[in-house]
Amino acid sequence: METAPTAARTFASYEHLLDDETRRTIRDRAAAVADLSVLHVNTTASGGGVAEMLGPLVALSNDLGVATDWTLMEAPDAFYDVTKVVHNGLQGDDEPLTETMQATYREAVAVNAAAVDDEYDVVVLHDPQTLGMVGHLAERFPEARFVWRCHIDLTDPSPDYLEFFADDLSAVDRVVVSRPSYADPLPVEEATVIHPAIDPLTPKNCPLDELSAEDAAGGDVGNYPVDPDRPLLLQVSRFDPWKDPLGVVDAYRRVRESVPDVQLAFVGGMPDDDPEGMEIHRKVEAETADDPSVHLLTDLPDAGVNVMQRTADVVLQKSLREGFALTVSEALWKGRPVVGTNVGGIPLQIADGENGYLVEPRDIAATADRCRRLLEDDALAARLGEEGRETVRRRFLIPRLLADYCALFDEVR
Ligand code: UDP
Repeated sequence: METAPTAARTFASYEHLLDDETRRTIRDRAAAVADLSVLHVNTTASGGGVAEMLGPLVALSNDLGVATDWTLMEAPDAFYDVTKVVHNGLQGDDEPLTETMQATYREAVAVNAAAVDDEYDVVVLHDPQTLGMVGHLAERFPEARFVWRCHIDLTDPSPDYLEFFADDLSAVDRVVVSRPSYADPLPVEEATVIHPAIDPLTPKNCPLDELSAEDAAGGDVGNYPVDPDRPLLLQVSRFDPWKDPLGVVDAYRRVRESVPDVQLAFVGGMPDDDPEGMEIHRKVEAETADDPSVHLLTDLPDAGVNVMQRTADVVLQKSLREGFALTVSEALWKGRPVVGTNVGGIPLQIADGENGYLVEPRDIAATADRCRRLLEDDALAARLGEEGRETVRRRFLIPRLLADYCALFDEVR
């Protein structure tokens, strides 16, 4: 296990974004658990939504007096191949989970659990990759409380995968999901719902004029192949079948029929635990190779994601399944109108017609129609974007996430 680098953050730097009551609640809740020590475990320090949140969350926790560590699993590539299949299985795929795969998983979690040296009052295991550590840890640290924070959409899991985790789930003290319905298929009595959040102070989300000198080049749209004077559709996501990048291409082609100068950009990172990403990237590239108005931008710096989100006229999130989609809050925070699918965490963030549009996942015509409306009506786009920013300020910023975790720790202690 490796210690993850945490962000340099203090609570004071967020206070201007919070109203008085929220500020007080957060301080009170942190004070109530200041006697606890907390460990978060996940697989990666960067790339993907979980890492995005843990950096500032861990820093804020410590700043408010809750001693919190964050460590990363270390495992061979074969483990991540298995956990990708597990991830898909928990989201409904029925690829078999062979005995060899199960053994690969069990071995890696045992090794990582053995590498936890210190005892903590609360251990938060993030996602299915780390869940298998719970039995080993509970044996070594019987006084500790264990939380499984599941970030994925569990609406329709394949039963074999639930069965595989049955013992682990019975060993955790509390499961945390992003939506109540995600816990329905789980064999647990109680689950807590916590919505994810974004960090408004990162180079990804801060105003462009607040970027450091070091980040400024990454945040200059001139360094990317899009034309800021032409309409731009954008999807920021891993190259993953659940994010439906080919569906995005279809919707873009429909929009182009009436908005001929429209451009499409994909911004997609390739996190270490996502071996499928390269293949999907190749497919999207092959599909759009003859279209100079489509751009696939990989591994942009955070400031690059920021400037692309701010430059886009419409941000798409065309997921077929989605745990939450931090990308939606990120775009809304920048006042951009979002067209998202009515799945998983997206409708938690978008109220159709109020701060964006919701469409059904396979409905290319509706997706294109909402994009077109927004491209053709600046006042509408501005109104939805402004409403979106306020939604995020009230409900989806990191300090609120910290308050929710503190309340949970107080409950399970
Ligand atoms: N992301 C990024 N660079 C990319 C693509 C994605 O930094 O090229 C970030 C994105 O801004 C967001 C996170 O990765 O913060 C993805 O989180 P989300 O919840 O949307 O999806 P997940 O990848 O966890 O399914």
